[in-house]
Amino acid sequence: MADKHYSFFKGVEKNFEKAAPFTGLKKGLLEQIKACNAVFRMMYPVELGNGEIEVIEAYRVQHSNHRLPTKGGIRYSTAVNQDEVMALAALMTYKCAIVDVPFGGAKGGVKIDPRSYTESQLEGITRRYTTELVRKNFIGPGLDVPAPDYGTGAREMAWIMDTYSTLKHGEINAAGCVTGKPVKQNGIRGRAEATGRGVFYGIREACSYADDMDKLGLTTGLQGKTMVIQGLGNVGSHTGLISQKEGGVKIIGVAEYEGSIYKEDGIDMDTLLAFRKETGSIMGFPGSTSLEHRGSALELECDILVPAALENQINIDNAANVKAKIIAEAANGPVTPEAEEILLERGCLIIPDMYINAGGVTVSYFEWLKNLSHIRFGRMQKRFDGNRYEKLIDLVAQLTGKEIGDIERNVLANGADEIDLVRSGLEETMVVAYQGIRKTWQENENIPDLRTAAFVYSIRKIGSDYMTLGIWP
Ligand code: NAD
Repeated sequence: MADKHYSFFKGVEKNFEKAAPFTGLKKGLLEQIKACNAVFRMMYPVELGNGEIEVIEAYRVQHSNHRLPTKGGIRYSTAVNQDEVMALAALMTYKCAIVDVPFGGAKGGVKIDPRSYTESQLEGITRRYTTELVRKNFIGPGLDVPAPDYGTGAREMAWIMDTYSTLKHGEINAAGCVTGKPVKQNGIRGRAEATGRGVFYGIREACSYADDMDKLGLTTGLQGKTMVIQGLGNVGSHTGLISQKEGGVKIIGVAEYEGSIYKEDGIDMDTLLAFRKETGSIMGFPGSTSLEHRGSALELECDILVPAALENQINIDNAANVKAKIIAEAANGPVTPEAEEILLERGCLIIPDMYINAGGVTVSYFEWLKNLSHIRFGRMQKRFDGNRYEKLIDLVAQLTGKEIGDIERNVLANGADEIDLVRSGLEETMVVAYQGIRKTWQENENIPDLRTAAFVYSIRKIGSDYMTLGIWP
C-alpha cells in the first residue's frame, strides 16, 4: 500500500530537496535538474488477433536531456501511471550520473498485465508501442534508448529493435536503439544478470568498511550473512544466485507473488528457481516454512533485506516491523520516505536504489557502445593477450626451473572475453561509485544518510555537466 502523503514522483522530489542544500548549486539550476523535461502519453489501438481491438495506455518520459541519448527501461504492469513513469525516469537521471554513464534519464510504461496476453498479442502491443515512439522521435541510438524493466525482457527488446530497424531501414546504428537484447541479436553477454550482479557488488562494497559495519553490529564481509529477497524476477533471482555463490550469503527468506517462505538453514537458489519453474510457485519448497502472507518475509530478522519487486513495499504500515540491518533497494523506490524515517531512526543502513540497481544501466551502456562500435568486446586483443601470458608463463617456468601445471596455465594464459570485460567493468563501476557516495557522506557530517549523500553526489555531477556542456547560461 502506498503512503498517504507522497506520490512516487513527489517522494523522489522530496529526496532531491533534502540533498539540494548540500550541493552548492544555485536554485535555478536545481529546479532545472529536478524537472521532468518531456512526457509522452499515448493511447493506441491493438488488434488482438481474436477480432477484438483493445486501446492501450502507455508512456515514455524523458526526465533530463542534458546528455543524449536518454536511457531507461520499459515496464509492463497494470499499476503503470504517469506519476510512476516520471518518478522512474527521474531516478534514471540520478542513477546514470552516479555510475558515470553519459546518458539522461528516461522511462517507459505500458499499462497491461503481460500474463493476460499471448506471446503474439504481446508482440503486437510492443511493436505498436515502438512505432508510436518512432513517430514522435522518442527512440533512437542518439535520442532515447529503452531497456528491460518489470514485466519485460530480452524478447520484447528484440521486437523493439526489429520494428525500429524496419522503420529506419539503412540506419547503420539501428541496433543501438534499445539495450537488453538477446546476445544473438546484437545484445551483450552479462546483460541479463547485470542488475543482480551489480546489487551483489554494491552490497559487498558496503559491507567491506569496518566503521560502517561496527555501527550495525555486523562484521565485515558477506560470508555467512543472512539475506531475505522479495521478488524472484530478473533482479531478485540473479542477486540471490550470485550473492550465494560468490559471496557465501545465506538466503533465509523469499517472497514472491504467491506468498513467502522461510528456511533457517538457507535456501539454495538454484533449487528454488527450478522448483518454482516446475510447480509455478515457491510455496511448499522442501524444508521451508510457509509464512502468513507474501509481505511477511519483509519482516524477518536478517542482516540484509533485498526488495526486488516494486515500489512502496516498505511503507508506513510495515516499516516498524522490518528488522533488517541493511536494506539494499534492488527495486526502484521500494522504501517510502515515511518508512525511511522510521528505519533510519533505528539505525538501519539503506543502500539507495539509484546506486544499488545501477548495474543494469551500466551494462546497457556497454551494450550500446558495442552496437555503435560494431564489434564484440575482446575480439581484437583476446588472442594477443593470451599468447603473451603464455610466453610469460614459459619464462617463469624457465627462470624458476619449475613446471607450471595445465590447470594454472589455463587460468593464467587466457585473454579476456566479452563476459570477463563486462563483469570487470561492472565491478569497477559499482565499487568506484560507492566510494564516491561514501566520501561525499563522510565529508559533510550534516548529510543525514546514504541516500542523501547519493543524491548530493549525483546532483553535483549533473550540475557540472550543465556548466561544462554549455547548456546552462
Ligand atoms: P521482473 O518482472 O523480472 O520481476 C519482478 C518479480 O517480482 C516477479 O517475479 C513478480 O512476480 C514479483 N512480485 C511482484 N509483486 C510482488 C510482491 N508484492 N511480493 C513479492 N514478489 C512480487 O522485474 P525486474 O526486472 O526484476 O524488476 C524488479 C525491480 O527492479 C523493479 O522495481 C525494476 O524497476 C527494478 N530494476 C530492474 C532492472 C532490470 O535490469 N530489469 C534494473 C534496475 C532496476
